This record gives sequence, C-alpha cells and structure tokens, in this order.
Amino acid sequence: MEKLKEKIMKEGQVLSDDVLKVDTFLNHQLDPVLMSEIGKEFAKRFEGMGITKIVTIESSGIAPSVMAGLEMQVPVLFARKKKSLTLQDDLYTASVYSFTKQEKNQICIGRKFLNEQEKVLIIDDFLAKGQAALGLIELVKQSGAEIAGIGIVIEKEFQEGGEQLRKIGYRVESLARIKSLKDGMVTFKKEEEI
Ligand code: 5GP
Repeated sequence: MEKLKEKIMKEGQVLSDDVLKVDTFLNHQLDPVLMSEIGKEFAKRFEGMGITKIVTIESSGIAPSVMAGLEMQVPVLFARKKKSLTLQDDLYTASVYSFTKQEKNQICIGRKFLNEQEKVLIIDDFLAKGQAALGLIELVKQSGAEIAGIGIVIEKEFQEGGEQLRKIGYRVESLARIKSLKDGMVTFKKEEEI
C-alpha cells in the first residue's frame, strides 16, 4: 500500500536493526485518514470471504481493525492483556511473549463473543516473530470459529513470523512488507519479490 509506505518513509524512526517506531500515526498518535484507507484496503483484500468478525489485540491493533470493521460492517473484538473486574470468568486465554516489551502476557477474550459459527479475520499492527498472531489464533481456535486470514499493517519480513504463519497455511496479507531496517534505513520488499 503506497500511502502507508510513504508515511513510514516520512515519519518512521528506525530504533535498531529490528525495531521501527511509528508513533506519529499508528502506535501512539493516530492518523484517522490513513487508518480509514488501511481499513478499506483490508476490506478489499478479504472481500467475499464471508467474514463475520474481526479479532485483534489491544491497543495498537484496534484502530486499523475498527476501520476495517466499519468498511466490512462486522464487529471488532479485541483481546485484552489483563483481566479486569468486568472480565474475569468464561474466558478463552493464551499466553503471548511481547517482542517490544520483552514480557509474557496472558491475553484473553470473553467466551460469549466468539463461537464456532463465526468466520474471523485477525488483524494486528505489526508482525515480527508471530507471537501475538499465534496467541490470537489460539484464542480463536478455542472458540471453534474459523480463521479466514490474517491482516497486518506492517510486516518485518526479516523476522520469522510471516514465514511461519504462511507455512502453517494461513493467508497473511501485509500492507507494508519491510525487508530490512539495517543502517538506520527502511527497505521495503519490492512488488515483484512478493
Ligand atoms: P510478534 O508477536 O509478531 O513478535 O510482534 C508483534 C507485536 O509486537 C505487535 O503487536 C507490535 O505491537 C509489537 N511490535 C513488534 N515489532 C515492532 C516494531 O518494530 N515496532 C513497533 N512499534 N511494534 C512492534
């Protein structure tokens, strides 16, 4: 998605050889116009698949997911990273190691929101080592719902998550695919390489 790539080039900060900071439009401040276009792009890529729900994880997966949900006219369910007073029992849970926070989280969703009749699109902001996506897959599997595919805003191809998920057989659609962050530079995968 060209507009997303341009935004990354203009505002993304390479923090190290494997971490990209995009807090001006995705991870802290949000760009609603870009988010809306991201939502449209996900809707286009997963059109006609009979998706009934989007499942994501708080907090950075929510904005692109809501825009996709609006476009596809389906509800958006976000997994929580902590139990709360209002979310205690009847949960599907999975454990996820966070790449950026370097800590393990129990993620959960209420059972009443997902069942075997649903066809789910999983969406997240970044795909790195695949831990977050695998955790979401685990939650959806517990419910018996079907997984139609995985939509990612920014995939870092040099980390193993994407390859792993595609190898298992999931359709993964990433709107920007980064080949390298070496030498402080963002290099995208070229269309002909995809
Ligand atoms: P994974 O679970 O695939 O290893 O990492 C994905 C999760 O870690 C995403 O939900 C995202 O929040 C975070 N993440 C991974 N890599 C990056 C990165 O380079 N930049 C930012 N901002 N977040 C990242």
